[in-house]
Amino acid sequence: MKKLHIHPKYCKGCLICVEMCPKKALKPSDQINSRGYLLPVENDMSRCTDCKLCEILCPDFAIAIEVEDE
Ligand code: SF4
Ligand code: SF4
Repeated sequence: MKKLHIHPKYCKGCLICVEMCPKKALKPSDQINSRGYLLPVENDMSRCTDCKLCEILCPDFAIAIEVEDE
């Protein structure tokens, strides 16, 4: 199973990760960080293939996908 980690301090709510995820595993949330930006959250991580596209494309290195033992 994959788990989403967002660094709330670094995320600027651009939602590139949400838009670019080919599996729609992420979605925008109603959680706001200290800078007033909306953070992404898990939509359905069972769809995640650990392709790392979200990590590669995030301009602020604010997202990480952790793969947990099944
Ligand atoms: S791409 Fe990075 S900065 Fe943009 S919303 Fe996703 S985690 Fe936040
Ligand atoms: S690793 Fe790939 S499939 Fe998983 S959330 Fe990121 S972009 Fe989507």
